[in-house]
Amino acid sequence: MNRKVGFFKSIRFKLIIIYVLLLLIAMQIIGVYFTRQLEDQLVANHFDLLKERGNLLAYNLTKEMTEVREDRSTLTTDIRSLLQDIFSIENAEVQVIDQNRVVIGTSNFQNRHIVGQQSTEVRVTRALIGTPDQTILRDPQTGHRMAVLAVPIVTDDGPIGALYIEASIEEIYEQVQEINGILASGAFISLTISALLVVLLARTITAPIIDMRKQALRMGHGDFSRQVTVYSTDEISQLAISFNELTMKLHDATVTRDREQKRLKSVLTHMTDGVIATDERGRIILLNKRAEELLSVASYQVIGQPILDVLKLSESFAIYDLYDQSDSVLLDFSTDESEYMLEANFSVIQEENGPINGLITVLHDVTEQEKIEQERREFVANVSHELRTPLTTMKSYLEALEDGAIADPEIAPRFLEVTQNETERMIRLVNDLLQLSKIDSRDYRLTLQWIDFGQFLHSVIDRFEMIAEEKNIEFSRAITAHPTYVQIDRDKMTQVLDNIISNAMKYSPEGGNVVITLLHQGHNVRVSISDQGMGIPRENQGKIFDRFYRVDKARARSVGGTGLGLAIAKELVHAHRGEIWVQSEYGEGTTIYFTLPYSTFKGEEE
Ligand code: ADP
Repeated sequence: MNRKVGFFKSIRFKLIIIYVLLLLIAMQIIGVYFTRQLEDQLVANHFDLLKERGNLLAYNLTKEMTEVREDRSTLTTDIRSLLQDIFSIENAEVQVIDQNRVVIGTSNFQNRHIVGQQSTEVRVTRALIGTPDQTILRDPQTGHRMAVLAVPIVTDDGPIGALYIEASIEEIYEQVQEINGILASGAFISLTISALLVVLLARTITAPIIDMRKQALRMGHGDFSRQVTVYSTDEISQLAISFNELTMKLHDATVTRDREQKRLKSVLTHMTDGVIATDERGRIILLNKRAEELLSVASYQVIGQPILDVLKLSESFAIYDLYDQSDSVLLDFSTDESEYMLEANFSVIQEENGPINGLITVLHDVTEQEKIEQERREFVANVSHELRTPLTTMKSYLEALEDGAIADPEIAPRFLEVTQNETERMIRLVNDLLQLSKIDSRDYRLTLQWIDFGQFLHSVIDRFEMIAEEKNIEFSRAITAHPTYVQIDRDKMTQVLDNIISNAMKYSPEGGNVVITLLHQGHNVRVSISDQGMGIPRENQGKIFDRFYRVDKARARSVGGTGLGLAIAKELVHAHRGEIWVQSEYGEGTTIYFTLPYSTFKGEEE
């Protein structure tokens, strides 16, 4: 870009050439016109002079020739003296010719042999009939130009002879040649001087242009700090002023653009949604950090790639489909291990009524949303299912009673007991559901109080020991004697323990032993409830805290489980900022652990 302009390509050189050519043409025209004119004038003057002399001579000759003489030879002598002494003309030969075209005298002594000879000149013939004639001829021997003149010698009675004048005019041409030489050297000097002047003057024209060029190059590199110097008020200076204004405007525009770009960049960077921009062919030209995170890609990997491939949509969409895709598209990136769903919204980049320039895609993570939605659907299905089973059972027993079983004193009470059990189970289920929905509601609050957890645990176990006697289950306690004060909601914590301990009892064999421990662990207290029951297969352990999850549905239902006990326990422990987990060996027993923090709950105390 920063190419140097060679001298022969520069404006300066062009100007010099133009000026010199113009001058040359002007001088040529002037020179030609002037010398031609001068030459003509000089020749004409010379002819005039010759004519004047000729006429004067002719007048004198008339006298000599008309004089009556006895001796004709005196005429020749008189004429000779007239021609050679009185009317001699420099560089000219004059011949006198009589009526019979005979030469009767010549001014050229060397040429005297022609006297007495007849002249063959056409012009002489013409002069003899009274018509003067003149022309320029070249001397065949010397090549010199000669003025040739024939003047009639007339009396009142008509022409009596003629004068023939031959004069060299080479001198005139030599003079003109000399003047030409002077003109040429003058032209050469003036050309040289003007060429030098042009070199200097052209600077004033080219300097601002060179300046502007330099400035334009700097602007190309983002430097707007300088201005072009304005020297005068001519067109180039106007251009320089406009150029300076342009520089300022461009600078402003660049600053604004940079600012906008920064703003856009920071908006894009801090957006919680992923944004991808593509060109009109659907190739990615920009994506923000969030989009990189959401798609687990680095921008350099996907820039220039078709968006359909990156979003794994190429099978179901063409890029043109996305242009008028007003609904959002769900992108399922789930694997066997984890669920991952993104929602994509598309909008086109288009100038008013113009062609489509590209596409903006906004991505957000809807995995959680979809999961909640899925859970909600499952929950409704589960609840319906859980309620339908006891209701169907009750219906069939009641129908049986209606059909006559009521009259059977043995069957009737049993059937009634079944319906009662089912009713109780439904009540338990509905209560559990209510409890969960309360925990789920936003304004759920614990009523916290400081309690010595050891004592509290003892009192709960005491209550269970009384019920457990009939199933012959023993409780062992490993509870630290050291007072362990934690802040808990007593009722809720009772429920947690009830659910866990009743499970331990439910799934323990007759005569089993349930061990309950309480110990300090860092910033927490840890409670464990272990039984020697059937245990939980490893693959099911992760799910037992889910709502309605039961390892062995038939068995759980037979012991009156709703599948919600551990789910409630988990929610309540979490509400206390604790953790809950299971450790179990299938066939050997189960231990449920949970922790509670010592630290107080700020802002949740009532
Ligand atoms: P349920 O009311 O059916 O007991 P829970 O939520 O309390 O529901 O327990 C979920 C499932 O976990 C139970 O159905 C059972 O299969 C299993 N489970 C819970 N506690 C024990 C335990 N102590 N021993 C064996 N299995 C258990």
